Amino acid sequence: MSYYLDALGSAGGVSLSGDGARPSCPICATISVPDMRFDGRWQLYRCPACGLRWLWPQPQTLAEFYPLPVHEAGDFPAPASYRFYLKRRLVPFVGRWRWRLWPHWPPPATPHRLLDVGCGDGRYLRSAVALGWEAVGVERDAIWAELARQVSGAPVYVAGGVEESDWPGTLFGVITLWHVLEHLPEPLATLAQLQRQLAPGGYLLLEVPNADSWQAHRAGERWLHYDPPRHLWHFTPTALRRLLAQAGFHDCWLRSAGNLPGWRRDRHGRNWLPAGLAWLLARLASIAGRGGVLQLRCRKGKQ
Ligand SMILES: [Zn+2]
Repeated sequence: MSYYLDALGSAGGVSLSGDGARPSCPICATISVPDMRFDGRWQLYRCPACGLRWLWPQPQTLAEFYPLPVHEAGDFPAPASYRFYLKRRLVPFVGRWRWRLWPHWPPPATPHRLLDVGCGDGRYLRSAVALGWEAVGVERDAIWAELARQVSGAPVYVAGGVEESDWPGTLFGVITLWHVLEHLPEPLATLAQLQRQLAPGGYLLLEVPNADSWQAHRAGERWLHYDPPRHLWHFTPTALRRLLAQAGFHDCWLRSAGNLPGWRRDRHGRNWLPAGLAWLLARLASIAGRGGVLQLRCRKGKQ
């Protein structure tokens, strides 16, 4: 079964219970209140209990809202960059703190097999392959998947084609979702499936925008990461923790981190703050625990 087939298979799994007019929160079932409305057509609801903001109703088809890649495989720099070299040399000495320093660094896990869900242009996959991981990607769009294959050299499966592949019964040591969860119509179903796909002792790593960040509160409707209608869910730390627990992940570590783009630009693509000020605010927000992104590392218990 494909993650995306699961995710796209129904009308979003959102209950219209409650008073019949207002949807209830898909995470904690609290009756939600209308929130911002974008461009006269995209309505957000907000859960007063867990703080989740979410788009309702969701568009019937999402593909038309996603751009096609404008670059080709040869446009990407080789992974043997200065930073990459530093990681490879220094990380073994940093031990268990490595993920805290470099959140996108896959932690050691057995099997040494990594699945990147929503792998985009394949750059993360390529780094994983270069570090010796047996890496696999999955992507919604065939054109993006082909680009990711060319960039990474790793197998990349397209939504709808996954069930013909030989890995759905495979267990992975690490599964990653970098800025993907907020795009999925049914994040709980997808996470539950990924939980089953993870080897005992394996890690789920993900990053999403933080709807309870300083930048989200300051920017209001202009916030870069509202990005309607592509971003369907806007998670707070509370909402994200609850969702992961419902999907069967109980050993989770979460932090917020600074996010420069969310201070630099708004969702219309206009400049917001100058680079120096944006950098300072991103640092301060991160220190205060109110950074623009949430990074989560969950470990599946050994059964
Ligand atoms: Zn809620």
